[in-house]
Amino acid sequence: MVTDLAEVFRLGTAKVKENLAFRRYLSAQHYADKQFQILASEVQQQVDCSACANCCRHTVVSVNKSEIENIAGHIGTTPEAVARLYTVPDPDAPALRILLNSGEGCVFLDGNLCMIYEARPKTCRNFPHVAVGTHSLGGRPSSLARWAALCPIIYNALERYKHLTGYYPHPPLSEFSRTAAVVNTRIGVMYKGDYDRLTKAVEGARALTEKAHRELGL
Ligand code: SF4
Ligand code: SF4
Repeated sequence: MVTDLAEVFRLGTAKVKENLAFRRYLSAQHYADKQFQILASEVQQQVDCSACANCCRHTVVSVNKSEIENIAGHIGTTPEAVARLYTVPDPDAPALRILLNSGEGCVFLDGNLCMIYEARPKTCRNFPHVAVGTHSLGGRPSSLARWAALCPIIYNALERYKHLTGYYPHPPLSEFSRTAAVVNTRIGVMYKGDYDRLTKAVEGARALTEKAHRELGL
């Protein structure tokens, strides 16, 4: 499992198109979501969110009246004070409120920890929404592909589900091996008797194959 945040970002960013294609594939194949939820739940139990907190840095958190009241009760102030000090109007729906975010993270984030953990809103409780929910993975928003670069749970759950469903975004390794064998045979015929050029050509082909394997994560 990949948990290093820089590595998750690198791999998740490189796989945005692949993950969008996987979502379309699941939608077309009508895969049930239950298996993915079980698998995502297993991944979730193995990831230490206190070492990450990326969702608290990047998510827009909507809060309703009762959630504002909960927070107020938790920190010992009035709902009006919470609304005034810790929320702003939602730019997409000005009648609703969202938690203040400085650009570096949620107003209630302290280091990697939530200062109102017991009273955090439903959006935060359910994030990353992969182990719960009624929508099938194929029907989920495309933002899931973007989140795979930020959330180790989403990244690893998607990778395991690809494996489980036998999804191959690229030709499987055996097909690469067959192609490599054909290329090697042709190189051998082309440079027969000229061992220097043959060696160089084989080394070049090997470097290209290794580069392709690295890029494909094989
Ligand atoms: S982004 Fe994902 S792994 Fe990171 S803290 Fe949030 S839920 Fe946990
Ligand atoms: S309320 Fe807590 S859990 Fe929710 S985004 Fe803010 S810091 Fe994170």
